[in-house]
Amino acid sequence: MQTLRQLSWFFKAHWKRYTVGIAFLFLIDLLMLLPPRLIGEMVDSIRDSSLTAPALMKTVTILLLLGLALYGMRFMWRYLLNGGALILERTLRDRLFAHLTRMTPSFYSRKRSGDLMAVATNDIPAIEQTASTGVLTLADSLFMTLVTLVVMVTAIDWKLTLAALIPMPFLAWSTAYYGRLLHERFYLAQEAFGEMNDHVQQSVSGVRVLRAFVQEKADVEAYRRVSEKTLERNVSVSRIDALFEPTIGIIIGFSFLIGLGYGTYLVFTSAISLGDLAAFNMYLGLLIWPMFAFGWLVNVLQRGGASHKRLSELFIEEPDVRDQADPITSVLSNVVEARRFTFAYPGADKPALRDITFTLGEGETLGIVGRTGSGKSTLCRSLLHQYQLQPGSLFVGGVPIESLSLSALRGKIGYVPQEHLLFSRTIADNVAFGKPEATSKEVLRALELAEMGSDLLQFREGVETKVGERGVSLSGGQKQRISIARALLLDADILILDDSLSAVDARTEESILRHLRQERAGKTTIITAHRLSSVQHAHLILVLDEGQIVERGTHEELMAQNGWYAEQFRRQQMEQDVAG
Ligand code: ATP
Ligand code: MG
Repeated sequence: MQTLRQLSWFFKAHWKRYTVGIAFLFLIDLLMLLPPRLIGEMVDSIRDSSLTAPALMKTVTILLLLGLALYGMRFMWRYLLNGGALILERTLRDRLFAHLTRMTPSFYSRKRSGDLMAVATNDIPAIEQTASTGVLTLADSLFMTLVTLVVMVTAIDWKLTLAALIPMPFLAWSTAYYGRLLHERFYLAQEAFGEMNDHVQQSVSGVRVLRAFVQEKADVEAYRRVSEKTLERNVSVSRIDALFEPTIGIIIGFSFLIGLGYGTYLVFTSAISLGDLAAFNMYLGLLIWPMFAFGWLVNVLQRGGASHKRLSELFIEEPDVRDQADPITSVLSNVVEARRFTFAYPGADKPALRDITFTLGEGETLGIVGRTGSGKSTLCRSLLHQYQLQPGSLFVGGVPIESLSLSALRGKIGYVPQEHLLFSRTIADNVAFGKPEATSKEVLRALELAEMGSDLLQFREGVETKVGERGVSLSGGQKQRISIARALLLDADILILDDSLSAVDARTEESILRHLRQERAGKTTIITAHRLSSVQHAHLILVLDEGQIVERGTHEELMAQNGWYAEQFRRQQMEQDVAG
């Protein structure tokens, strides 16, 4: 019931559809009361032999026309109400999708994608059911019960009606009881379904690792356990479902038993006519649907309620990084600055970055190096404002980044993340992802700057080659360079390359870096790397260790300091000489 109230915004928006649909339902309910009456009268006239041919013809014609009218109207309400529910389903899905695209990394590290998929594929249809079957049942069964009872009491016999209704409180009690059980079990079943989804999703996307570590059997076994759990929980839902209808059936059976027994007695004592008894039984028959419907209603509303709860829990989530009330939408300079910047991931007990201070002038290049896990990627992500930050510590163009609108900030920055992701589209589409209006010449040029030009010749369809799931598989270095081309095409004021040259050989790296220097003169570039040759030409190099800057300076200065950088650089030179 609460679910229906929470969906009232939708019913209000589509009130015409619902009003007409429900009006048809009511009209049908009223018309359904006529046949028992007509047939009862016929039975009586057969009994006292007063039935004439024209009277029979008239009744038959009325019943026929009634049948046709009901046919049309039943089509109409189904069409209107079910159609409305489908619109609701689509509306909710669109909203959910839009909502998910607004969420930040911290949300996705808390939620499992299998659960999110389960909400879209299972919960939204359950809510749709509430809005179709739920609404229809509520309106129809209440009205139908009411009018039928009124007719039974006034036109036939109130004592008989009352007696036949004795089993009904049991019906109410058992629907409520089963409903509660169903609610609990359905929630558990949905939870298991989410877990199962998550498992499939991880196994499918990680299938290569799975094979490499020969874990297929173990994974199939693990999957079997989750699917077994899902099965058990779903079976426990259907066990209740299966008990539901027979219970209602037996209660209704008692009603008929009383109606027939006591009704026959009343006919014998001439309190009612035989026709009345026939009509009464038909009216009682009309009550079966609403009674079942009450059962369904509890069922459907419980399911819809559980699902609506899960959906609302997602909708309440607000992205933890949002624009300020009056954000600054443009900055002129490309200066990047950090002032005693400290950052901890949500839920982490110690900061990933501590006391980071640097100024990167317009057109300069910053190199960030350091051991794995030292915080290089964290610093890049912070500059993109992916997480909540302490205010007044990171600046772009002299403006604290939390005062900048997210679209302005991200529009200013081109970013090649460490984990590059290509979509299952053509290479050209992947490159033009951030600038769909780019010409094919621009796309090609970006690919050439990223040293991907000669690789393209390998593919029969060139830039139109499909990559990913159903297309060709690319090497790690090819994926990296396509990601670089994607960022280069934007020609952003600030370019961040997070370990983006790790999978290419030294010569390719060198020419990409040369292109960057030529193309990006006057623009700001940030490069993180393990191979120190990537940052050798940077105006400023920061060496991070456990989130802190332990060395800083140009290549020459750092070599003179003779610390971690100098040692690392010499070792890498030596390795390269040996390899080369
Ligand atoms: P690498 O050279 O391996 O790429 P890195 O220098 O980029 O390493 P970061 O990815 O910035 O290192 O990680 C720095 C620290 O922050 C690590 O201790 C890591 O465990 C932690 N960390 C990274 N990402 C997250 C996250 N999403 N949530 C919580 N902690 C994280
Ligand atoms: Mg990293």
